[in-house]
Amino acid sequence: MESTTAGRLRVGIVGAGIAGLALAGGLRRRGHDVEVFERAPQAVAVGAGISIAPNGVRALEQLGLADAVLSDVRGRRSATTAALLRPDGSVVLRGSARRLNLLALTRPALHEALSAEAGEVRHGVDATVVPTGRPVITVDGEERRFDVVLAADGVRSQARAALGLDPGLRYAGWTTWRGLTSEPFDLGGRLSETWGRGAMVGLVPLLDGHAYWFGAAHAPSSVAMAEPRTDALVRFGDWHAPIRAAIEASDPRGVVRTDAVELAQPLPSFGRGRVALVGDAAHAMTPHLGQGANQAIVDAATLVRLLDAGGRRGIGEALREYDRRRRPRARVVTRASELVGRVSLAEGIGGRVRDSVLNAVGAVTRLGRDD
Ligand SMILES: Cc1cc2nc3c(=O)[nH]c(=O)nc-3n(C[C@H](O)[C@H](O)[C@H](O)COP(=O)(O)OP(=O)(O)OC[C@H]3O[C@@H](n4cnc5c(N)ncnc54)[C@H](O)[C@@H]3O)c2cc1C
Repeated sequence: MESTTAGRLRVGIVGAGIAGLALAGGLRRRGHDVEVFERAPQAVAVGAGISIAPNGVRALEQLGLADAVLSDVRGRRSATTAALLRPDGSVVLRGSARRLNLLALTRPALHEALSAEAGEVRHGVDATVVPTGRPVITVDGEERRFDVVLAADGVRSQARAALGLDPGLRYAGWTTWRGLTSEPFDLGGRLSETWGRGAMVGLVPLLDGHAYWFGAAHAPSSVAMAEPRTDALVRFGDWHAPIRAAIEASDPRGVVRTDAVELAQPLPSFGRGRVALVGDAAHAMTPHLGQGANQAIVDAATLVRLLDAGGRRGIGEALREYDRRRRPRARVVTRASELVGRVSLAEGIGGRVRDSVLNAVGAVTRLGRDD
């Protein structure tokens, strides 16, 4: 299974999440041969909404995928204002949503658009890589050789473990809920986060009129819940309107609860030999900055550019350069995300200090008026 032309690469990709699909689409656009292996029996995008930030948009442009993926949302804004609130609904800070410049879309819409560019995905297969970093993927007992293998197999990456790079996962100490309203839901064009003691909720208007919400709270890990939506209602049902109504307007089957986990240590390397780790497999981070998927797309854009420029002879150097560029940057974003998580979920003395600082900032900037 050698490449047929000198510059054309045969690339094996493990995982068809956001990272794997972005890689596949970008590489195909540049004429490379791509095979994608996905464990799930069919394409299912778990989760509710997702925000693509300016760095994610730039990366999609570099991949040549921005028009296809963002055509429905670009140049349009679902939110006009952005606010930070207290659980009683009083406003701490308020500003224009334009400054945040986020494109909010549903996860299924993002997956579908990326899938349309990624070519065929082989579903229902457990793909493994070999410890040496040879560009080989084993599927159903059969070894398949490539010029390079990109492992985008998520936070619990088997590839990371196989390459001897796994520091283990650590529970961040809090759990998350995500949901999407089944019908259009009016948030008045306001994107908001509400910070309580040890818990927070975000409400995001989507362009199709639906609303996406997410919540996070300190909780013991993996506590068995009867049903995530009911649990979210218990946690947040008495917070300001329309939080309860947004949760109630979501189909319970689509509400997802996920414990926030992060890598116990940053990785010493984003790969070995001719195998590179991409997306959450390389830098699983807490979701507070909303950067996990954006960083995955930036990884993909960086790798595609470097691999394409280097051709078959330059694969080793392209992967080393990917590691040099992306590992320090992803580390900064991971730490920033941890910090935002700590502040937004502060409780006890930390919570009181945070609230005093925010009150002072709100007063000084005269943004602390109620809506
Ligand atoms: C509450 C919450 C809100 C978030 N909000 C945002 C946001 O607004 N913006 C943002 O940028 N990020 C957000 N994130 C983070 C984002 O969801 C992740 O960073 C992103 O989905 C990671 O993509 P990935 O492709 O690396 O991994 P995944 O999406 O996990 O994909 C990995 C894929 O690999 C497959 N796989 C695993 N092992 C194998 C195997 N052995 N063989 C074959 N296939 C395999 C899996 O089935 C899966 O499909 C949020 C996360 C949470 C928890």
